[in-house]
Amino acid sequence: MNQPPKTKLYVEGRYLKHTRDLPQTVFFCPECKGHPRRRRKCERCEGFGKLTKDSVQELIGWVLGKAAGTRRHKFHGAGREDVDVRMLGEGRPFVFELENPKVTQVDLAEIETEINSRNEGRLEVRGLHWTQKSRVRELKEGRFAKEYRALVHCHSSAGDEAIEAAMEDPRYEVAQKTPSRVAHRRADKVRGRWVELVTVERGEGDDLVVVLRTQAGTYVKEAISGEGGMTEPSLAEVLGVDGAECVELDVLAILGAEGEEEESPAQLEPPRAVDFGAGLE
Ligand SMILES: [Zn+2]
Repeated sequence: MNQPPKTKLYVEGRYLKHTRDLPQTVFFCPECKGHPRRRRKCERCEGFGKLTKDSVQELIGWVLGKAAGTRRHKFHGAGREDVDVRMLGEGRPFVFELENPKVTQVDLAEIETEINSRNEGRLEVRGLHWTQKSRVRELKEGRFAKEYRALVHCHSSAGDEAIEAAMEDPRYEVAQKTPSRVAHRRADKVRGRWVELVTVERGEGDDLVVVLRTQAGTYVKEAISGEGGMTEPSLAEVLGVDGAECVELDVLAILGAEGEEEESPAQLEPPRAVDFGAGLE
């Protein structure tokens, strides 16, 4: 017998993450993988199955999934930031995939308001609208440069001349090896990437607040410290300090491939009332 075809619905929007404790998708325990039986005896997660209580995906899913009558959903982001990195500015584009929804009348403007009021100070979604499956691939395959603000702890004081010299030629090329923290799941090779300084300001002590743009696929924390020669040159070298590390990071903007703002993906569309057929496939 043939299985009835799965019904899927796609909702697109952008999310802002205002905290440093929220993963983008469900953070399953690496030991038991959240498996319903195996997790019961798991010491790593104490039977919870996850390492954080929630995620961007779950905070959206609990409201949107409930309204649509389904607990099954997938989250497709235009890239992702680390758990401890905030996502600010206009937010990051995403598509939320609902599987076999039972309810066919959902007011996305209302959903948006509810998600935002329940998660004030943590998560904000904007511009929720129905979309098509094809947007998932567009977001996944897009090569987006990013703009970041980094609080950089320097091991010595950066001189005014060094900062001025760096700002005269703000875009530079780096050779970046796969960082040790991801080497187990990514091919170990050297990649050429561009990094562009936007502003360098002094913080407390020798700290610097640096706004920078990086090419898609750049490991920005490692581009700042150099991770013992894994990225050359490091931002520490560029600014002539003994060493540096990124202590806080925010994504300020998702940009076009070359760092341009006008080609930023997924322009904000106003939330509109549901034409439920539009998202059905
Ligand atoms: Zn576990």
